Amino acid sequence: MTIAAVIFDWGGTLTPWHKIDLSAQWYAFAQEFAPENAAGLAQALFEAEEARWRVQRETSGAESTGALSAILENCGVDQSAAHFESAFRHYLDFWEPHTLADPDALPLFTALKERGLKIGVLSNTMWPRAFHEEVFARDGLLEFIDAGVYTSELPVGKPHADAFRAAMSALGVENPAECLFVGDRIWDDIHGSQSVGMHGVFLPHSDHREIELVETNVTPDFTIQRLGDVFEIVRQLQKRAFA
Ligand SMILES: [Mg+2]
Repeated sequence: MTIAAVIFDWGGTLTPWHKIDLSAQWYAFAQEFAPENAAGLAQALFEAEEARWRVQRETSGAESTGALSAILENCGVDQSAAHFESAFRHYLDFWEPHTLADPDALPLFTALKERGLKIGVLSNTMWPRAFHEEVFARDGLLEFIDAGVYTSELPVGKPHADAFRAAMSALGVENPAECLFVGDRIWDDIHGSQSVGMHGVFLPHSDHREIELVETNVTPDFTIQRLGDVFEIVRQLQKRAFA
């Protein structure tokens, strides 16, 4: 068995984890969009987002409802308003410094491509594809990605098996044993990928909030200390396959 594809999580994996004040992101938007009720709107958006992630967590990804636009709509934000776009820019600007790719990402993608591997992304996200692709393009990664699967476009999220199958199918890979999945969450990424038969590679440096973690005794197939270490795992597995 060889490795045909490497599929990456995004937050905390391709982009290093930053501890974010999740209400501040919404305040950045709300104070432009509705200055008369900025604190109230920011709080409502924060709570709606928290609820979205909680449902996904508590259903193990079976319910992953709520893309960003639905959250805004449910909180009474008129996205067709003339000043929406300029206010929303503040939300995106808030995120900008927290979306930069790990410095290992570009050399790793280049090396994987040179070895003929397919590269996929599977992200639990409420953001539309366009935001992610903009971030990847900015950092020179987009052209290397054969398939990006964003759960804002799926009825499920990680760790649900269908999310991983969607990533494989988008890449045109049929055998999960030919896939490495690289992620920073033991439950969503490692348990999820292993449950469909992929190899789970754990990058353990994200400082997640306690409430975001699901307790589990899953053991990763590999644990790495930096993103670039993925290449050595691929090399070893391929050597084994051809030995
Ligand atoms: Mg992550």
